[in-house]
Amino acid sequence: MKSLRALIRQSSLILIAGLLLVFSILVYAGGDTLMRRFVDARLLGMAETLAKIVEQYPNLMTSPVEDRVVSAELNRRENEQLRLSGATHSLRVFSPGGELVWKGVDPLPLQPIHDQVFEQARLGHVVLETVESVDGTAVRRLFLPIPRDGTVRYVLEAEASLQLYRQTLTGLVVLLGMGSVIILLVAWLGSGWLAKKVLTPIEVLSTEAETMSESDLGKRLILGSPYQEFRRLTQAFNAVMDRFQRSVESQRRFVDHAAHEMQTPLTVLQGNLDVALLKARTQEEYREALINNLEQVGHLISLTRSLLTLAKFTSDKPPVHLRPLSFEPLVRDLLSELTILFDERRITLLFESQSVPLVSGDPQWIKQALINLLDNALRYTPFGGVVTVRLQADGKWVAIAIEDTGHGIEPEHLPHLFERFYRTDWARAKDSGGTGLGLPIVKEIVEAHGGTIGVTSHVNNGSIFTLRLPIAPEQTVLA
Ligand code: ADP
Repeated sequence: MKSLRALIRQSSLILIAGLLLVFSILVYAGGDTLMRRFVDARLLGMAETLAKIVEQYPNLMTSPVEDRVVSAELNRRENEQLRLSGATHSLRVFSPGGELVWKGVDPLPLQPIHDQVFEQARLGHVVLETVESVDGTAVRRLFLPIPRDGTVRYVLEAEASLQLYRQTLTGLVVLLGMGSVIILLVAWLGSGWLAKKVLTPIEVLSTEAETMSESDLGKRLILGSPYQEFRRLTQAFNAVMDRFQRSVESQRRFVDHAAHEMQTPLTVLQGNLDVALLKARTQEEYREALINNLEQVGHLISLTRSLLTLAKFTSDKPPVHLRPLSFEPLVRDLLSELTILFDERRITLLFESQSVPLVSGDPQWIKQALINLLDNALRYTPFGGVVTVRLQADGKWVAIAIEDTGHGIEPEHLPHLFERFYRTDWARAKDSGGTGLGLPIVKEIVEAHGGTIGVTSHVNNGSIFTLRLPIAPEQTVLA
């Protein structure tokens, strides 16, 4: 497993080393150019001074080479430059034919002059070149033509040793190298300190998180770090734990409720069977016991059906796949499937429909919601009652209302109807065989569609459950 600490240290070291390398190359290249220019400018200055003197004293070059006296001015300037730079240099004057006519202080061994270079100078060009001296040191050499009356009278050659220049550059490289090593050392230590500073709170959080257990879901991370990033991380982690705790607790409550709801019919079943087996019974008594047990089995089946529907939920929500849907045929088909159940109970089922736009919905889940509402209307409406289904457009919604002429619901129960396992006292007493899961499932389905569900009810007059679904953005029907 990779370590973040090692990553921070290595990355910062590589980054700084890269920057140092670029910086050193730039400094070296800049220093090299500046010094080269300085050497060339000094050579040129020296050569031009001598050229002026030669121009001022044209007879200076006519006496024999050994006897020539260099002007006091030239000597003074050269000595100044020698002292200033500490570098060695020399001056020579040649005739256009290549004959040495004058030479100054000459500490450098004389270098052979290439014909092409001398020819360039003889033609009036200033030539600069770097050559290797006989003792192996590099020498910078300048050729300066001295014209008179439009022709080159003399060619002046000035040389300067590049030894000091090379030494200075070597010193610069050593300095940059040593500086880089020190900076890298500081970067290594600094990145270690930074990694520790960054990772310690994470390690604290990890250790705390590791000590959390399922039996201790109320525990939360506490971090004393002043940095906002770690505070956010801690808050986010604690918020996830809050949600997780709520979800686990609601699951536990749900399982408790489900087990409790199952226990009642199972206990009744067992009791009926025990009583029936206690002694020999008449056929009529056995029949009664079986009918009673059948009711309990029916209750268990509807409970299991609701639990299976909830099991299909992902993260407490039905996994709906929305598409533009024509509502009217879906409702009409469903009502024709259920008519037989209403007929059995002699309940009149009416369907009043307007032309409505397409809704955005998942047909399977919408059908499930309507079945739950119609099942309640059927269950809680007495024989001979009427159930009316109304479909109409309502602004940006399509509304479907299921109205019955049943017992109705007391006002105090209305706010709780959509809670899981909630049933009114009247429904429990009536032993309607309900589970208290039908309406919560409807609510989840409708909300997953971005819709709403509402109820109005008057005791002894009946109830109206109204479900609203949003109109589809695209008005095309998909098969
Ligand atoms: P159940 O399976 O018990 O019907 P629901 O969640 O569907 O569970 O309904 C919750 C409770 O709301 C019911 O127990 C009943 O008391 C009440 N209820 C729902 N629909 C109606 C209705 N149409 N008329 C009267 N009461 C109703």
